[in-house]
Amino acid sequence: MRLLIPFIHRVDSQEACDWVAAIQARLPGCDIRLFSQLSESERALATVAIVANPDPADVIKLPNLKWVHSVWAGVEGMMASLVHMPFQIVRLTDPQLAQTMSEAVLAWVMYLHRDMPQYRQQQLASQWHQRPYTDPGDRHIVLLGLGALGQKSALRLVDNGFRVSGWSRSVKCIDSVRCYAGSEQLTALLSQADIIVSLLPLTRDTESLMDRQFFRQVKTGAALINFGRGASVVEPDLLKALDQGQLSHAVLDVFAQEPLPPESPLWSHPGITLLPHISAPTSIATASCIVAANISRYLSQGIIPESVDKSRGY
Ligand code: NAP
Repeated sequence: MRLLIPFIHRVDSQEACDWVAAIQARLPGCDIRLFSQLSESERALATVAIVANPDPADVIKLPNLKWVHSVWAGVEGMMASLVHMPFQIVRLTDPQLAQTMSEAVLAWVMYLHRDMPQYRQQQLASQWHQRPYTDPGDRHIVLLGLGALGQKSALRLVDNGFRVSGWSRSVKCIDSVRCYAGSEQLTALLSQADIIVSLLPLTRDTESLMDRQFFRQVKTGAALINFGRGASVVEPDLLKALDQGQLSHAVLDVFAQEPLPPESPLWSHPGITLLPHISAPTSIATASCIVAANISRYLSQGIIPESVDKSRGY
């Protein structure tokens, strides 16, 4: 009998079918099935499940799970509600995702570096004003988070001539990137950054990290790019920092509430460039290969891939 693997999701039904078809094609010895199609006795057979932003209430209906494989890199939703369950949680680590994110980081750093928001405002006001040019080597970019996505992004910025520093929980050693760790070093680093890029996961330590005190420590006129998670930013404090000129601009791709409600003041603020969570979409083609390879290794050798550290929250 083929091993039954449920796919539990809260994505649209077409996307769910695309995931099931892509993973099924790479795991012909397994039966990949939408969770909603399973009977209670079939649910009891599952030892591994594949998930895309699942409803935790569905996941706990699989009583014999040993591990779940997320097709997304961020798993804070599951960490919040399933941390006490006995199964392990494996998140997606995909070099293609890191490549896509590094492209987005480079694109939006360039947007800020070449003063595009200011030139857009000038155009709207029919203003002809040439701003002074800054060499990338004189632009200090600070990355918060030096994981799979942060490291790739840091190196891409270095390749484009920027001065790059990075901050993480444990100190790293990356060629041409100055690496820092811990909250004391963050304070020093913030006062030197021209552009701050957050690629932090959402945990109890990073929730509301970017608050009034954080913005007080940044160099006057610095800019922020948040591609990590929205709840790391305290939105009223961000708006105040922009209104007071502490921050010159913010590029936001992620929000505490998504989709961002129409009444949010973030939509219309001239100091904000708003993106609908598109900086690094998962590629079904590459991610399904990675998920299938991890499950094959588990079936042939019993090895569960490196899982999320439940005490750290990421
Ligand atoms: P990762 O490999 O787990 O790296 C996380 C990094 O953050 C690590 O360097 C970690 O430090 C650091 N970190 C965590 N908590 C910290 C703290 N309290 N203080 C300082 N540093 C801390 O994650 P990733 O694959 O790079 O992904 C990062 C996040 O990007 C995801 O969790 C997700 O939220 C977000 N994301 C966004 C999109 C999008 O489209 N906007 C797409 C994919 C992912 P250590 O190295 O010391 O562990």
